[in-house]
Amino acid sequence: MYEALIKAFRMNRIKVELFKTKSELLRYLDQNIIEGTPVGVGDSMTLEALNVYHLLREKGVNFLDKYNQQLIKSEKKQLYMDNFSADTFISGVNAITENGKIINLDGNGSRVAPIIYGPKKVFLIAGTNKIVKNEQEAIQRIKKVAAPLDAVRLGKNTPCTKLGYCIECKSADKICNYLTTIQGQFDEKRIELLIIEGAYGY
Ligand code: SF4
Repeated sequence: MYEALIKAFRMNRIKVELFKTKSELLRYLDQNIIEGTPVGVGDSMTLEALNVYHLLREKGVNFLDKYNQQLIKSEKKQLYMDNFSADTFISGVNAITENGKIINLDGNGSRVAPIIYGPKKVFLIAGTNKIVKNEQEAIQRIKKVAAPLDAVRLGKNTPCTKLGYCIECKSADKICNYLTTIQGQFDEKRIELLIIEGAYGY
């Protein structure tokens, strides 16, 4: 069913695996992350829904846990810098396109920057609810669904948190600052896309 999608990513030199269940995906991650190594993560409702953060806390890795409540502001900033030299970085995505591209929109860049450069290995996880036709549809999806919901979750003072939709604001709290498209890579195994059947995150 997803053969054409998988082929499109492979044509763009992006390694891709398809999973039917959450437990299959977690087992794959568990087997492919080396014990004792540093692992960073991006902020992601998909990772939360799939219990990826829980896996990392239980596993014997050096989890760079951005959700640690004890972190003070300067420590969190340092953790974001440490993500660049992590062995592994794991994140969700905002959308994946039928022609093999990965689209993300970020507020401060701490998620998209280490996806693109730094960590030796990057796993990007997407439910099949994130599949869209092309980049235009991806941006529409992000602006209509993902960004307003994220702005609410993060308690931002932006128009979309009151209206429920995007009006392309210029607010200081705007979370739509860095729009990235991954459409290829030199090392075809560095960024690996893990697609899981079903709706995860938004
Ligand atoms: S541009 Fe502004 S209004 Fe639109 S989704 Fe982003 S934060 Fe909300």
